[in-house]
Amino acid sequence: QAKSEGRNGYRFFDPVLQSQLEARAALETALHGAIGAGQLALHYQVQVDALRQPVGVEALLRWRHPLHGQVSPAQFIPIAEASDLILTLGEWVLQTACAQLQAWAGQPHTRALTVSVNVSARQFAQPGFVEQVHAALARTGARADLLVLELTESAMLHDIADTVRKMQALRCLGVRFALDDFGTGYSCLSQLQRLPLHQLKIDRSFIQDMGARASDAVIVQTIVGMARTLGLHVVAEGVETEAQRTVLAQLQCPAFQGYLFGVPQPAAALEAWLLGQHGGSPAPAASPIFQR
Ligand code: C2E
Ligand code: MG
Ligand code: MG
Ligand code: MG
Repeated sequence: QAKSEGRNGYRFFDPVLQSQLEARAALETALHGAIGAGQLALHYQVQVDALRQPVGVEALLRWRHPLHGQVSPAQFIPIAEASDLILTLGEWVLQTACAQLQAWAGQPHTRALTVSVNVSARQFAQPGFVEQVHAALARTGARADLLVLELTESAMLHDIADTVRKMQALRCLGVRFALDDFGTGYSCLSQLQRLPLHQLKIDRSFIQDMGARASDAVIVQTIVGMARTLGLHVVAEGVETEAQRTVLAQLQCPAFQGYLFGVPQPAAALEAWLLGQHGGSPAPAASPIFQR
């Protein structure tokens, strides 16, 4: 235990920091074994159009730790991203989502749904990323034109020439791209315009404050208008209330995702829910309580 004070008065040993580091290291070690141990799963959250018809789903990674229970991706994705672990996780997610896409192709109520997959910056930056996606599609037989890859601004703008090359190669296969958490980064719009994007996802922070902050409604309106001009599809993230949906509909936002329409759930639960909806029975009220 180093108790000495550093030159600047910093303590070399900080028990709080130390336990945080230990917890992080323990989580990282556990995460290493998570795939093999079958502790990972994808949950799927529905995306609906203006008529509330399901048009797609977003795949969201879930980790059930044997001791800690459900660990939030907000907690473990950053840890995975700090190491090569994210590459292993990312490949598993891609493969699993494509297998699900192919399984859904055989059922009438799911066959037209797009499946959106989150791709981390490091995963996308790998030299073999295009081949990885191609391989996942080929192995599973999934339709490329129903696969949407969600990337963030920082991932796309890191090396724009490399990004354009990869996006174009994947677009040739039919794969589409969404810009996730739009509005939270420092987008250079002229650079974004160079990218073969298909959709923008408006970050939920703007949706959530729309009622309280008039400026957020203006931002949402501007994004929707700009997307229309650029020929991009838009999905509003984190829609929780009917009031938010109404404002978004007035702003002519074409698609929504959020607890109001459905929480992320296992594939089987989503299928049952979609089937119920098609059968005409009312959809169960989505509650954030069931999220994790
Ligand atoms: P994201 O891609 O922006 O995903 C949307 C997040 O918002 C999800 O959180 C979802 O559960 C949550 N959400 C959906 N509707 C609502 C709502 O109405 N209200 C609120 N408050 N939240 C809502 P989740 O599942 O905890 O994931 C957090 C982030 O972790 C994701 O943000 C994404 O950046 C990352 N992530 C999740 N799965 C993966 C994955 O497979 N790969 C990678 N690289 N990242 C992932
Ligand atoms: Mg996403
Ligand atoms: Mg997002
Ligand atoms: Mg995100």
